[in-house]
Amino acid sequence: MAIDEFEASSFHWLVDMLESVEVGLVVLDLDFRVQAWNGFMENHSGITAGKVRNQVLFDVFPDIPKAWLTRKVDAVALLNTRAFTSWEQRPYLFRFRNTRPITGTEEYMFQNLTISPLLGITGKVEKVCLMVYDVTDIASNKRALERANSQLAKLSMTDRLTGLINRGTWENLIDAEFERYRRYGNPTCLVMFDIDHFKPVNDTYGHLAGDEVIKYTAKVMRDSLRQSDSPGRYGGEEFGIILPETDAEGAQVICERIRETIQNSTVQTTAAPIQYTVSIGIAPLTDVPENHMQWLQQADEALYAAKEGGRNRVVVFGE
Ligand code: GH3
Ligand code: MG
Ligand code: MG
Repeated sequence: MAIDEFEASSFHWLVDMLESVEVGLVVLDLDFRVQAWNGFMENHSGITAGKVRNQVLFDVFPDIPKAWLTRKVDAVALLNTRAFTSWEQRPYLFRFRNTRPITGTEEYMFQNLTISPLLGITGKVEKVCLMVYDVTDIASNKRALERANSQLAKLSMTDRLTGLINRGTWENLIDAEFERYRRYGNPTCLVMFDIDHFKPVNDTYGHLAGDEVIKYTAKVMRDSLRQSDSPGRYGGEEFGIILPETDAEGAQVICERIRETIQNSTVQTTAAPIQYTVSIGIAPLTDVPENHMQWLQQADEALYAAKEGGRNRVVVFGE
């Protein structure tokens, strides 16, 4: 075989290979005119090499971030070095529909992108090659894992029945709020409340109906509070709220609203319509408690006083 013939045939299979490889290959001149466009690009874009050749890439794909790609390509050409972008920085360059059946949950193909300089005979960078890798599988696995992790983190902090912060997490928040008060001295209140005569509710209507009452109580709390307030489920039918930037008067207004809302509600449980009340204790933070547990103790004492005073009422510690 003559040398020329050998080179011609190897060129032929080389082109065949580039045509069929499962990576998008695009050669651009420095004015972003398309010089080469392989089978992967044809298949996913639906645009043939013949049609796109010598067209400016941005004219054919107006969605491509022009300023960003121009900056990247200019740097590659100037420094004669490769550039790489992962799907985590930019999910895709070409907006191709995801066609893989296993990763059917993702709408678009996630792509990693490499931009390589291509030298001319003079040794200067004359063109660049974009290599587009389909990383949808990896991306969608990683995203699913991240979603699962954040759900797990949330689950371990919240109470299953009510979706409120659970006791452990809530106590950590009290501790943090206590320390914040130590440093800045802003008015802060701690609220403890407890459903009145809840045992008979369970005994009469059953535990499930009781659970519905607990759930309803959590909903009233959530609906009555600001974003910055932290409601938690302290125990079975005991709840707590941290009210930052709130003095005793403000806390009383909020708690009275919760108390009245519950008093005026009827919970339509599966067993029966249930009416009930709650007792509430408030402890405005002062310099007296030495730690957050003592602060909590004060709120609990106020709650106890509310129960002793006849229930269905709000008591502020020390008043
Ligand atoms: P008081 O007015 O003094 O608070 O009376 P009470 O009956 O509400 O108080 P007590 O603390 O004696 O009873 C609380 C009851 O709450 C006991 C238990 O059966 C019930 N309980 C605790 N946790 C749950 C729960 O998760 N679901 C249900 N349905 N009931 C619970
Ligand atoms: Mg109780
Ligand atoms: Mg109770």
